[in-house]
Amino acid sequence: MPRKKPIQRPMPRKGSCIPAFHKLSIEERVRTIRDRGLISQEDYKSLLAGRNVLSLDNAGAMIENVVGVMGLPVGLGLNFLVNGKDYVVPMAVEEPSIVAAVSYAAKTAREAGGFTTESTEQLLIGQIQIMDVPHPTRARAKLLRHKEEVLNLANSLHPRLVARGGGARELEVFLFPAASGKAEMVVIHLLVDTRDAMGANLVNTMCEGVASLVETISGGKVFLRILSNLADRSLVRARIRVPHEELTNNGFDGEQVRDGIIIAGEFADIDPYRAATHNKGIMNGIDAVALATGNDWRAVEAGAHAYAARGSRYTSLTSWRKDDEGNLVGEIELPLKVGIVGGSLQSNPTVALNLRLLGVKSARELAEVMGAVGLAQNFAALRALATEGIQHGHMTLHARSVVSAAGAPAELFDTVVDRVVESGEIKIWKARELIQEVSLEAGPSEITTPADPQMGVGHGKIILFGEHAVVYGKRAIAAPVPLAVRARIVDTDSGVWIVMPRWGIELRLHDDPKKRSAIEATGAVILEELGLGDRHMRIETYSEIPRAMGLGGSAAVAVAIIRALDIHFELALSEEEINLLAYRAEQVAHGTPSGIDNTVATFGRPILFRAGSPPEIEEIYFDKPLRFVIGITGAESLTAKTVARVRKAREKNRPVIERIFRGIDALTGQALAAIKHHDLEQLGDLMNVCHGLLNSLQVSSWELEELIQIAREHGALGAKLTGGGGGGSMIALCPENSEKVIRAMNDGGYQALEVSVS
Ligand code: NAD
Repeated sequence: MPRKKPIQRPMPRKGSCIPAFHKLSIEERVRTIRDRGLISQEDYKSLLAGRNVLSLDNAGAMIENVVGVMGLPVGLGLNFLVNGKDYVVPMAVEEPSIVAAVSYAAKTAREAGGFTTESTEQLLIGQIQIMDVPHPTRARAKLLRHKEEVLNLANSLHPRLVARGGGARELEVFLFPAASGKAEMVVIHLLVDTRDAMGANLVNTMCEGVASLVETISGGKVFLRILSNLADRSLVRARIRVPHEELTNNGFDGEQVRDGIIIAGEFADIDPYRAATHNKGIMNGIDAVALATGNDWRAVEAGAHAYAARGSRYTSLTSWRKDDEGNLVGEIELPLKVGIVGGSLQSNPTVALNLRLLGVKSARELAEVMGAVGLAQNFAALRALATEGIQHGHMTLHARSVVSAAGAPAELFDTVVDRVVESGEIKIWKARELIQEVSLEAGPSEITTPADPQMGVGHGKIILFGEHAVVYGKRAIAAPVPLAVRARIVDTDSGVWIVMPRWGIELRLHDDPKKRSAIEATGAVILEELGLGDRHMRIETYSEIPRAMGLGGSAAVAVAIIRALDIHFELALSEEEINLLAYRAEQVAHGTPSGIDNTVATFGRPILFRAGSPPEIEEIYFDKPLRFVIGITGAESLTAKTVARVRKAREKNRPVIERIFRGIDALTGQALAAIKHHDLEQLGDLMNVCHGLLNSLQVSSWELEELIQIAREHGALGAKLTGGGGGGSMIALCPENSEKVIRAMNDGGYQALEVSVS
């Protein structure tokens, strides 16, 4: 009796999670996928022997002038669970990290239930362009009346396709406006169900085949007959829903990663420059599957990008949002008209093997898996970018780009950024709403953040007299400005975060003290000194003071943070303790401060100050307020540099420089008397002389000089630089003509504001 041949059944597929797959050798990987029933013994052997590679003969039959074949790595995207079915996804791509990224993303997605996908009916559009139509509107109506006739003719050209359940399904007619005086153009869309083929050749043949019938019906002349790659009648949607707990990554809490992904997604929504890179990443995954499965990736690319540009601007193919339970929801929608038969698919043995390995039963199923791969790639990329972004302050930068996109005027910009971040809605609509709100509140030259009793406040300052000399024990006069820094504390689950939207800062306090920036060092020393080093929190700081403009921003930040901690943790600190701690923070962040900035930032009163331990501080009372204009150069004040320059000059020529310091000190004394008698002419003269002395120390800059000239020419009684110099700000005494001075400064391209010192 002849022995019965055992029936070769493929082993059951064992899921797409293969632990430690990346650690195996290539041979071990091939064996593993065979042992799991993902490939047959035949395919196993041909993979190991390299027999699956396209032969020269086959290559020669595919394109012209063939001289060889070119290899590309094929890797496996693991962990894919799509509509409850497991897929191991072959991906052909030369770029590292793509396969690892999608596998990692698919693993997170899988733990959250995997991808769900859906697709529209897979129709390919064939276009027939008809020119010289005598009555376009009538021709359209007639073509629609003869629709069945055209569809029947198209189907008769591909009876086998019809037998498989496919064929031409629908006909649409469009009229396009006349160009250069010619008659309107009539364009037919023939919608064809090409079943498991991509269908380019099938549809082209149909379009050509019905051309003469179309001419007879329309009375025009058929010109182009070709498919469209904007395959928007063949849409795929894929979706994932990930609980935020699953997003915890590298010590970043899940909610933050989720929100970061959403913000990164919004960036791509609003900005074509970002969208291009965002979508390129998506196509990293999709193209790799298209190549591995023998599909025309140029067609896939053309369709995806044309679809991304279908609205008023090129935008993202994905969307990311938070649902009511706080889960991250990601969706992708794009046209994918791919095939598992036809074209070059059969000629390349690797393609056939890859398709068997992937295990899709139809072109539609392949398209849906590709959609899931695109979404996985985007998820992985955004998660990585968002985590980076969280560390490096991209969230507040995003708020700045949203506010810019919403069209905030320059003078309101920073305030709107603050409010957008405070609102927690980093959205264009919110920014627009807040622009309105802030515009209504804003005075002509001064915009402040509304006071909130739960927030700690630190004041900005100007130095009226005595900068630089104060470092060498001379007196200085300083006064607060109505610009403040406000801070509040929000409890969080992990880490200490410092958020300063206006200065574009959003960072997590580095564990390693050596790696901390000045602002981190400020935060860290304050927390340690207050015994709060082990608490988790977000320190939100809203500053009206421009950064590094010589207006005492850093001391004001320190004071605002200390006060916010005092309020939040009910520490009952005295004003003196707050001042001392702010001084300590200034020392850590900036080296050797005189102590004047933290004192004004704390007490918010004009003072006469002499450095020492303890410093001599005397409050100054003004009978009548003094009106100054602050001109801001926009160039960072290089205080450390100018202080160092003065020190060097002093070392070189001590008697001369000491005489200048004494001169400044004398001016400070005279200024006190002038303030007491409200002698503004004298005060202005003293300011001008003081600036001359500061100039002799070479601490001015051309911007400062320009602002000072503008102020004097427009009627300021006196003008000088304020603070460290080398950039930063200047002040002008303008009792009557402040508006004129401000306008002139603005015309010169500088920011300026009026302050009243009392
Ligand atoms: P094709 O010409 O090979 O047609 C598919 C063939 O497969 C048909 O003969 C059909 O009868 C047969 N078939 C067997 N089983 C089938 C099934 N289940 N469902 C459907 N058909 C089945 O290939 P195509 O898909 O018409 O065209 C794809 C090729 O066209 C690609 O190689 C592409 O590069 C190329 N192309 C693309 C463009 C473009 O995108 N703009 C233009 C021209 C050519």
